[in-house]
Amino acid sequence: MAISREELKGRLAALPRLQLASLPTPLEELKRLSAHLAGPQIWVKRDDLTGLAFGGNKIREFEYQIAQAVEQGCDVLVHSAAAQSNQSRQTAAVAAKLGLSAVVVGRDDAHAQTQGNLLLTHLFGAEVDLPAPEEQAQAVAAKMAALTAAGHRPFHTSSDARIFRSVAYVDGALELLAQCEEQGVAPAAIYLCSGAHTHVGLVVAFKALGIDMRVVGISPSPRDDREAAEGHLALARECAAVLGLDLALQAEDFESYAAFVGPDYGVVTPESCEALHLVAQQEGLLLDPSYTSKAMAGLLAHVRAGWWRPDQRLIFLHTGGTPALFAYAKDLGY
Ligand SMILES: *Cc1c(COP(=O)(O)O)cnc(C)c1O
Repeated sequence: MAISREELKGRLAALPRLQLASLPTPLEELKRLSAHLAGPQIWVKRDDLTGLAFGGNKIREFEYQIAQAVEQGCDVLVHSAAAQSNQSRQTAAVAAKLGLSAVVVGRDDAHAQTQGNLLLTHLFGAEVDLPAPEEQAQAVAAKMAALTAAGHRPFHTSSDARIFRSVAYVDGALELLAQCEEQGVAPAAIYLCSGAHTHVGLVVAFKALGIDMRVVGISPSPRDDREAAEGHLALARECAAVLGLDLALQAEDFESYAAFVGPDYGVVTPESCEALHLVAQQEGLLLDPSYTSKAMAGLLAHVRAGWWRPDQRLIFLHTGGTPALFAYAKDLGY
């Protein structure tokens, strides 16, 4: 059964939350891009502009997720991902802002130069380790154990209380809905690049409110779309439970495509390279190499395949990630 926006806001307000992001982020029309495509009217929700540390979706997500770390009395935020991980940068910045320590176990991958996100992670004072890729899992497990043995309370931002990242995008969906009304935008769909959390949060919000909104997810990593939908479903049930929502969810509610990833996570494809240049040159808007350029490649492919009529409106959720550009000059042809 659907609940009101006020009711949903009330349930969110009952949860611990930090104030980290500059909200609301803008909702802007991409007029030249839309005209160039002679297609649907494309609007962008600027979650690349959440403010702290060059922004991005994790800053919004951390308001709820890192609030749990604070509640638990954790003193070290740990993250482990690619060398150019946005989340590593955001983890290090939020730790600095909260007076916590940060430990980043990256990996010595193809983009491990001290540039972009990795440079910023250092600037925010994180302890950074870059083991060989095949040693990363062991290195982060050893680091967590060593921190605990030394009397610390580490919080791993990839796994601990991760459901609160989806909860944050329930809130993000309410913000977006209010803006759509204010600006007279009735979207036919929302496009985004998501591993799971952001996508799930949006779908849970629309389901809770009884709004029939198509959310089109583009995966940043190779995976099976059907398995991804099952994974999203499990996460959505968890998210609904946190908010006390009784929702009839099914795997079919999660539409996501791994077809635009290319060979691997973080690898620029001809299509994502074209999408990144097109948006930069039509709108002066930067996308990132690992997430938003792939989501835009997916959106462009769908528009060109005639999925959307020119009178329809699409929202592109810009989840951030632009600092990684500085480590991708070669991949982008320069
Ligand atoms: C982390 C990240 C995402 C995906 O976030 P999920 O929590 O998996 O939905 C998308 N875009 C950017 C730029 C990111 O850094």
